[in-house]
Amino acid sequence: MDLPYAEVIIDISHSEVDRIFHYKIPEKLLSHIQLGIGVLVPFGAGNKRINGYITGFSHEVCIPEHKIKEIWDINHPVPLFDIPMLQLAHWMKEQYHCTLIDCLHCIIPSGIKTTCKKLQIASVHPDVEHIDDLCREYKNSKKLLSQGKILELLLENGPMPIKELKSVLQISSSSFQTLQKKNLIIVHEMEISREPLSHKRIASTTPFIPTEEQEKVLSHVEKLLHIGQGETVLLHGVTGSGKTEVYLQLIQMVLDRGNQAIVLVPEISLTPQMVNRFLGRFGNRVAITHSRLSQGERYDQWQKAKSGYVDIMIGPRSAVFAPFSSLGLIILDEEHEITYKSEITPKYHAKEIAQKRASLTGCTVLIASATPCIESYFDAQQQKIHLATIKKRTSIHALPSVQIIDMREELTQGNRTIFSLQLQHEIKANLEIGEQTILFLNRRGHSTFVSCRKCGYVMKCKNCSITYTYHASSQSLKCHYCGSKTPNPKICPACGSSYIKYFGTGTQKVEEELSKLFPHGRILRMDNDTTTGKHSHEILLDQFSNRQADILIGTQMIAKGHDFPGVTLVGVLAADLSLHLEDFRSAERTFQLITQVAGRAGRGALAGRVLLQTYDPMHYSIQFASRQDYVGFYKQEIKIREQLDYPPYTNLFSILLIGEDERKVITGAYQLHEIMRYYNKKQQCILLGPVPSVISKVKNQYRFRIIVKCKDILLLKKYGYYCIEKWKNIYKSSDISVQTDINPMMIM
Ligand code: ADP
Ligand code: ZN
Ligand code: ZN
Repeated sequence: MDLPYAEVIIDISHSEVDRIFHYKIPEKLLSHIQLGIGVLVPFGAGNKRINGYITGFSHEVCIPEHKIKEIWDINHPVPLFDIPMLQLAHWMKEQYHCTLIDCLHCIIPSGIKTTCKKLQIASVHPDVEHIDDLCREYKNSKKLLSQGKILELLLENGPMPIKELKSVLQISSSSFQTLQKKNLIIVHEMEISREPLSHKRIASTTPFIPTEEQEKVLSHVEKLLHIGQGETVLLHGVTGSGKTEVYLQLIQMVLDRGNQAIVLVPEISLTPQMVNRFLGRFGNRVAITHSRLSQGERYDQWQKAKSGYVDIMIGPRSAVFAPFSSLGLIILDEEHEITYKSEITPKYHAKEIAQKRASLTGCTVLIASATPCIESYFDAQQQKIHLATIKKRTSIHALPSVQIIDMREELTQGNRTIFSLQLQHEIKANLEIGEQTILFLNRRGHSTFVSCRKCGYVMKCKNCSITYTYHASSQSLKCHYCGSKTPNPKICPACGSSYIKYFGTGTQKVEEELSKLFPHGRILRMDNDTTTGKHSHEILLDQFSNRQADILIGTQMIAKGHDFPGVTLVGVLAADLSLHLEDFRSAERTFQLITQVAGRAGRGALAGRVLLQTYDPMHYSIQFASRQDYVGFYKQEIKIREQLDYPPYTNLFSILLIGEDERKVITGAYQLHEIMRYYNKKQQCILLGPVPSVISKVKNQYRFRIIVKCKDILLLKKYGYYCIEKWKNIYKSSDISVQTDINPMMIM
């Protein structure tokens, strides 16, 4: 009988090798070769060793038999994907215009090469005498040099993993074997634990009796689970309405049906509190991934899902690819979060992947938020997806009362601090009765910048044209795009004046001023600077929830997910800062942020109040947010989107040209624009630009942007990529790179 050929996708992301290659299957491997496994193959003229993946089999090939090479070996015998996942990858390739291997890399866990759970540790044999001399002697000998280097490192560092030694010294295993035979080193195996949850002991919880509204949502989704046709439901529930409890009970239904569930959570709300609620209900049936896991840990979580050891996967965006074989439900918590969209190729949105998996497998998708993304709510209004609503909070208290404070009046009254008089008064009152306060600094897009009072010069990074951020702790200026640092100037570089002033407010500044006002208040600060350690998030939040502090100051990080029953006051320090982002979604972002933070107040037995400080009190996003009126906001915002022709009424295709030579980038951008105009004969698309991007320079690379609008997304993609290809054929140079994004979440 004829043996089939294996279809192999090789592990190189390049459009020229983005296709199937056929290989012969050697007799000895025949019984082990199957779809989804990793293989080692000879590739190209020089027969380079390349990793590949089996994506299928065929009996006929259109190249001559003798030219077909043979698979060398198997390097991952357990399948890394199945047919539905391969279908998903093919769909992604079309959808996001990238190579198949790019898509497979999303599906295949990144730690596959670190499957070994036993670590081999080498150390110098304790009985060897004059080891230093021996080491020196070896190092002087050409033949024994590698062995000498190993001894030297072990003498310097003590016992080390062989894997690490190998990669540091770039040497093969044979040197270790020789040293071992000579009794100069000993190698022992160490069990390494990669159990990220192992330090936890969580008390188990039982389900609440659902409220009437929760019950309605549960039975609605239960019906869809039963039908199993891949439907999507948007759950719009105010903050504190018991959405998480709904997830827990739905997951129980899914498990009872013998299926599995994925819960996607934005990375910043993947807090211990959040995780514990799932562990408390489902114990070791749960696996968790997040970006701080090592590759090996991530692989283990993947493996657990694959082998059926767990039924629930919780994690950020990438967890949407969890390899469950009979998926019942995918939940996207806080579905409006921009982090659900990948910033690197393939630029997928977790919601789109979830919905595609649903259409391939029949599982149900639940997307949920107190402030749904305008596009999602629009889809629900159009009845493309189902809508479920929870209007009431579960706690005895209604939503907190919100008061807007006009900061312009504070200024005219002579109050120049960051805190309005009323906020100061309320913080003081809270301190006196021992209740907790959260101060939220809206910093998205803005930070402390340094400028000259006399001439107005603003200190900017020379590489990125981004305003420098002032860091009080090191008295320096730092660029948050490229990381470059410079000392704080004493005089203005432009006019020489010494009136240098810090504008805007950072969390450090808030902390400083606050401790001046309330020297006895116990203050915690949570931002990028205070949360760099592996468990620092957890520690800070624990301290606050154990009431070891009175006031928590923070940025976006504290805006969501956390449930602090002791918090009765939330102060939003600059509610309107995010209104000035150069982005059509800035009103939506502001509404979302304020609503989410306000929702932190009054979640326990005590009523909550919120003070919104703003310089723009009449703006509709501030007004609707202060009333926690999502539907009102939606109605106003959707009108504006329609008038100005923005998503969801149209689609945007963003094209970014990036290069070191500004003149070339500009010329290239105009060339491309010209080509696009030529092929837009029927005027079906609207061309905007080319313009310097909002961030016009990053790491010495200039950035110009063209935006194309079109109601028909298929036409838009076809047209956009076609024009770019045409341009590349004419331009023929690699000094400008092109990045594309369809319906971007941020245009920066
Ligand atoms: P959300 O996720 O919508 O912000 P949560 O699920 O965190 O809301 O619920 C808020 C609080 O109400 C939590 O402390 C939760 O334990 C509690 N809760 C949820 N559902 C119920 C219920 N049916 N009965 C009583 N308490 C509930
Ligand atoms: Zn920079
Ligand atoms: Zn100046």
